[in-house]
Amino acid sequence: MLSVCRSCFSAIRNRLTIIEHGRGFSAHAAVNEAKEPDTAQLFTQEHKELRRSLGRLIEQDINPYVDEWEEMGQFPAHEVFKKLGQAGFLGVTKPTEYGGLGLDYTYSVAVAEELGHINCGGVPMAIGVQTDMATPALARFGSDELKKQFLEPSIAGDVVACLGVSEAGAGSDVASIKTTAVKKGDDYVINGGKMWTTNGFQADWMCLLANTNEGPPHQNKSLICLPMDAKGINLSKRIDKMGMRCSDTAQIFFEDVHVPQSYVVGEEGQGFTYQMIQFQEERMWAAASILQTLQNIIQATIEYTKERQAFGQPILNNQSVHFRLAELETEVELLRSLLYRTVGLYVQGQDVTKFASMCKLKVGRLGREVADSCLQYWGGMGFTNEVLVSRLYRDFRLISIGGGADEVMLSIICKYMNTLPKMPQKK
Ligand SMILES: Cc1cc2nc3c(=O)[nH]c(=O)nc-3n(C[C@H](O)[C@H](O)[C@H](O)COP(=O)(O)OP(=O)(O)OC[C@H]3O[C@@H](n4cnc5c(N)ncnc54)[C@H](O)[C@@H]3O)c2cc1C
Repeated sequence: MLSVCRSCFSAIRNRLTIIEHGRGFSAHAAVNEAKEPDTAQLFTQEHKELRRSLGRLIEQDINPYVDEWEEMGQFPAHEVFKKLGQAGFLGVTKPTEYGGLGLDYTYSVAVAEELGHINCGGVPMAIGVQTDMATPALARFGSDELKKQFLEPSIAGDVVACLGVSEAGAGSDVASIKTTAVKKGDDYVINGGKMWTTNGFQADWMCLLANTNEGPPHQNKSLICLPMDAKGINLSKRIDKMGMRCSDTAQIFFEDVHVPQSYVVGEEGQGFTYQMIQFQEERMWAAASILQTLQNIIQATIEYTKERQAFGQPILNNQSVHFRLAELETEVELLRSLLYRTVGLYVQGQDVTKFASMCKLKVGRLGREVADSCLQYWGGMGFTNEVLVSRLYRDFRLISIGGGADEVMLSIICKYMNTLPKMPQKK
């Protein structure tokens, strides 16, 4: 049986402190006070069991089809999410009342790491959008009705979610988005558009960030659950990308789209803050989901260069090669340590914005470095579409751009270091 044994997880839940979603950071901190996470060794036997179970699903239901999906330019999100949802993997940290496993964030990291065994970046990214990008704010701040309508089926894998933050004119500068949601009767009327929406063509609902009043940019936004079949939503052509080929990416336009005002997540006007909190999970998740893949690329390169001969010896025997691979492995372990420390603090309820930004910055850079260095040792084969390293070289280029570019991460870290100059006042 592939699914995670539910009784096994009740046992885990009884032993671990359940994160109380919906109560925010301070309650979260209080609940976890007594638990001192072992940050050096984040995973217990239960985490490993969860990973093993997901690993089997990946081997049976995902990896055999990845090449075909990459070729097609889209993977069947509903089909794959249903399998993941049935087995419990789409809601490991989500509340049990809505079908989640109610476990702490270390389990989300375990799942993300295992997803790194998928032979592409596109499918893990799409899963991450569902579990750690489009739904954390809803789980934490949304009303019971909203969670029943949107969160529960997302956890079950019955629906596909997407996240609508970036726009054609506003990516890094989230505060400057232009999409509006204006009150009319009991509804909001939405106008504007979103860009780069992962899962956009297959999604049933969007976690939308829109301006709901004319106040200052950090207080005028709300997150809204937007059903994607609403009248006035138009999907433009599929964006043709250099990597993440099997993940569908849409540009979306809204023209007088009506949605009930009750679909707002939490408090109106708090959307920017909620999104910034939601970004922390996105950034830790991004680092976790790539760790395993980086190790797999290094290992595959060791195997290849052990076999491949040049000048009468295996390529791996050149000191420049095995030393470089050792350096990369060291960097991966350093990233792992930073990530586990960050996650340890996060489950204690601490503000991890600085560390999560560091993880995101480092994984973006390391993803490029590992893929590029390893590809070099595959020679001409590395330049073909027949080996995984070339796909990951293309896929991982995104990490330094999406979910906050490297420079945005550096700006956040600088803010915490008190070195970021103040923006000049507008005259
Ligand atoms: C494949 C893909 C999938 C995506 N999925 C989603 C999704 O599902 N939902 C969603 O909302 N968004 C998504 N995005 C959008 C992504 O988050 C943005 O592309 C990203 O935030 C950067 O925004 P931008 O592309 O508008 O770049 P811009 O904001 O135009 O920035 C361009 C470049 O300028 C530099 N830069 C920016 N700010 C600074 C600064 N302060 N200092 C110095 N340099 C700076 C950086 O190098 C940056 O890469 C996706 C993007 C891609 C490509």
